[in-house]
Amino acid sequence: MKRKISFLFLLLFFYHSIQAQQIYKRVLKLMGSRFEIVVVADNQKQGDKYIDLAVNEIRRIEKVISSWDPKSETSTINRNAGIKPVKVSHELYNLINRANKISKITDGAFDISYASMDKIWHFDGSMKQMPSPEAIKKSVSKVGYQNIILDPENQTVFLKLKGMKIGFGAIGKGYAADKAKQLLVSEGVKAGIINASGDMNTWGKQPDGQKWQIGITNPLHKNTVFATFPLTDEAVVTSGNYEKYVIFNGKRYTHIIDPRTGYPASGIISATVFAPSAELADALATSIFVMGVEIGIDRINQLPGVECVIIDDKNKIHTSKGIHIQKYLTNKSKKQNP
Ligand code: ADP
Ligand code: MG
Repeated sequence: MKRKISFLFLLLFFYHSIQAQQIYKRVLKLMGSRFEIVVVADNQKQGDKYIDLAVNEIRRIEKVISSWDPKSETSTINRNAGIKPVKVSHELYNLINRANKISKITDGAFDISYASMDKIWHFDGSMKQMPSPEAIKKSVSKVGYQNIILDPENQTVFLKLKGMKIGFGAIGKGYAADKAKQLLVSEGVKAGIINASGDMNTWGKQPDGQKWQIGITNPLHKNTVFATFPLTDEAVVTSGNYEKYVIFNGKRYTHIIDPRTGYPASGIISATVFAPSAELADALATSIFVMGVEIGIDRINQLPGVECVIIDDKNKIHTSKGIHIQKYLTNKSKKQNP
């Protein structure tokens, strides 16, 4: 009898080990962007279950941070600008607190209160001329992270000036990627990638033991990859000005605005940041556009565990000190640079 039982166990063990894990993937629109969710699971049913969990988590976050949804906590903060502090969830309070810290380390290049400038710039092809210098000057008067008042005791957020607004366009997708990853890790998912339109967080390895290979879009040829990087438990985010931009007098302006001047950033066409979290990588990739190549790289070099690759508008590649780009360029890029 005993022998029979151990034989049964052996069979069960065997059955489990031949049921190899596989990669399951879903592409869908979330937060107005293309998301790709990749998980390693035992079978399709399990893979679907994991992906559903990630999707629900991202939808939940969107409800908190959306500036379009009048019912979101973020909209309530904005509606009460200049009027009164608003009590918010720990989650949103902490996100705003971290965003303000990034504003400090980037000297205000990153600023979630950029949002009141959205009224004068449109990066959907509808703008025919530059806004007037007066209009630009007026729009920045409501911008400034110093006027986002956080009260840790009461967990309230107060935008000091009437007409002030916050928005998470430059950090929200990275945050959602981190939270979806965190949830799946806690559910025991061994490996995966949450890719929010180029804002990615990864964990674990592929079922065959190989690292995930992450391709960075070539800003000059959107459908090709200019470099690939192996990643295991790291986030990478690419911001590019090849999708949303305007051209005035032959100069290309991106959808990232310098909160200090009110003018859109120019000079950089793509910034890729590697960091422990996609939230930080997302915010820093946006900040690099505003800070420019030199200050951007200098700042990144001072942050432990963070690296970057920048392509400027002359197609020159710049990297932080921990990246040896030649190793990662695709063969085509080596010839064309990038
Ligand atoms: P994408 O979402 O296209 O990948 P980013 O992550 O770089 O791009 O974020 C750009 C978005 O961030 C803009 O569309 C806008 O909503 C917001 N934004 C623009 N300028 C700033 C800024 N200086 N600080 C914070 N957010 C900004
Ligand atoms: Mg960003």
